[in-house]
Amino acid sequence: MTDKGRQFVNTVLRLLITIKMLKKFINFITFIDQPIKKKFILFSLGVLFWFVVMFVISIATYIDINNKTGSIVNKFIPQDRTAQKITGKLQELSIDATEIINISDIKDLEQKINLSMARISDIRAFISAITNGGQVHDINRDNNETIESFPVIPLKEYREAGKYSDALSPLIDSMEEKLKQIADLKLNILSNRIQDSSQLVSKISGFKQLLHEASSLSQDYSVKIAKLYTSNSQKVGDVTKLAFYILAGVLLMATTLLIVFTISISKAIIKPVKSITSQIRSLWEGEVDLTQRIDISSKDEMGILSKDFNILMEEIHDLSTFKKIIEEDNNLEDVYFRLGKSFSEKIGLNEFIIYEVSTMQNKMKPVYPIILNEKDILCSEEILHNSDLCKVKKTGRIISSIEYPDICKQFKHVPGKVHVCVPIIIGGKAEGVVQFLFDKKNNNINRKDKRMFKAEQYIKEALSVIEAKRLMNTLQESALKDSLTGLYNRRFLQEYTETLIAGVIRRQKNVGLMMCDLDFFKQVNDLYGHNVGDSVLKETCEIIKKCVRTSDLVIRFGGEEFLVLMLDINGGETSKIADKIRETIEKTKIKVSDGIIKKTISIGISEFPIDTESFWQAIKFADVALYKAKDTGRNKVVRFTVDMWTEKQF
Ligand code: GH3
Ligand code: MG
Ligand code: MG
Repeated sequence: MTDKGRQFVNTVLRLLITIKMLKKFINFITFIDQPIKKKFILFSLGVLFWFVVMFVISIATYIDINNKTGSIVNKFIPQDRTAQKITGKLQELSIDATEIINISDIKDLEQKINLSMARISDIRAFISAITNGGQVHDINRDNNETIESFPVIPLKEYREAGKYSDALSPLIDSMEEKLKQIADLKLNILSNRIQDSSQLVSKISGFKQLLHEASSLSQDYSVKIAKLYTSNSQKVGDVTKLAFYILAGVLLMATTLLIVFTISISKAIIKPVKSITSQIRSLWEGEVDLTQRIDISSKDEMGILSKDFNILMEEIHDLSTFKKIIEEDNNLEDVYFRLGKSFSEKIGLNEFIIYEVSTMQNKMKPVYPIILNEKDILCSEEILHNSDLCKVKKTGRIISSIEYPDICKQFKHVPGKVHVCVPIIIGGKAEGVVQFLFDKKNNNINRKDKRMFKAEQYIKEALSVIEAKRLMNTLQESALKDSLTGLYNRRFLQEYTETLIAGVIRRQKNVGLMMCDLDFFKQVNDLYGHNVGDSVLKETCEIIKKCVRTSDLVIRFGGEEFLVLMLDINGGETSKIADKIRETIEKTKIKVSDGIIKKTISIGISEFPIDTESFWQAIKFADVALYKAKDTGRNKVVRFTVDMWTEKQF
């Protein structure tokens, strides 16, 4: 790979990692994997948090603005006003000084001087208020009425206040001194002790000079305070603006989070709910695609619901597929095989035996897994021959040893194992039983075990198929078997011939054929009636069956004619068995209601493919031999020979 290529791959990888991290982060801040209740609690807490943040910002701004405006109203304005009051008092003093020149009465002079002194003392009080704080009482000294009174807070952190008072105080002292001198001078003039008033004029001018200086200082201070005032007002504006921006930012952030959360909530809740609803709707409308699954986008209840729903759909899908497959199966064995496979592969139940019950014969047999030896079943073998001993078969109910260990006496009590036996109910009767086994140690196992529930679902699904297949088997059996003797009939022979011949040829063996016919059987019917005739037929069939191997086939070929096929026999052996049959029948005393009947039988035999390569011809040969037996005296066995075959018989 070139350097550029590698770089590109690296960039893509990094991008993917970033996207993944971002997704994780969004999942984290939107609480996507939290349970719904917690999600909403966290969301409410989040909203509360943003409210608190906004509240704190607002409060902080309010306090700051309040402090600043408070400073303006409570500190700067009283200070400024006091400074202005000082200026006012200084102007009044200036007027006083001018008026002193024209006073002609001593008493008036004393009054004026006292007034001016009061004004000076007022100024001192005002200066003290500016530097140390306190109440300012502004009194109109002309009529002694209070103009106003207000508190002043000292500006400790502001040096100009100190400077102002430091500069003003000595001037006021000088003014007082000067005023005293003016008063003395004026008194002397009024008492005519001094004639020249030029000295007074110059003193007053000096006094006014001091007044002017003090006035300038006060105005100066006033301007400075005004500046402070303006800068603070500006600060209030700045703080308000800043607070506005912060609040707007917080609001934007909270709104963004709200939108992200809403989108994620809708994705995590609404989407799966919609898909589940539409799946459920299509389920009942019957147009569902069972393979369709719902996206799992969160780990909350909705995620769990989606997951469970998917499992449910999968199970329904499995069940419906299972049913379709078993419907197509050719025989019951395949159905049992597939049911068993589903137990182990789909549910994980590995220890079980499926039994098939034959209600008519009161028998049951294990059909899956294949058990060759009866002793290998986990119940007493007796149940196989007397199925009523099996509690499930008898009651049609589930019998479990989980709650009651000794519930079934037939169970062999395999150490450490418990059983749950489930009936396969068809037409209200237990036509089968599935015995499940569990380890006793496994504490989790109980009757409500999910696996058992599933197993029962599979059994239920298979019921109709088992029923249909069993019915078909019965119909087939009845069509191929004779109802009186239970032997196979001629139709069976027709269907079975092909398989039979193929096997014999493959194994290079012979089939011995015996055609048996009771001698003068008609007489039995005539003498004893048809029912007795039937019992004689049954007895004969039992005798023939006993004389041959179970693997040999005894067929009711006609009314009282039996065809016996002896498979894989050696040449010549057929006659021996035929003799045995003939002798046994001859010796047998058949008990009937009216006494005892003794019968004989004639048998014609042939061998396939020794006599002919055509199986049906071999049957014919046996028949020909039988006629030979009948013709030559009955109660005998005749082996077919070629000379018996004449043109006529074609
Ligand atoms: P043979 O064979 O020795 O020549 O004499 P047969 O009396 O046995 O003669 P045949 O074989 O012709 O008679 C058959 C009789 O068997 C005729 C019929 O009434 C009787 N049969 C056929 N099927 C049944 C059956 O299912 N039940 C009874 N009771 N009788 C049957
Ligand atoms: Mg006969
Ligand atoms: Mg006959």
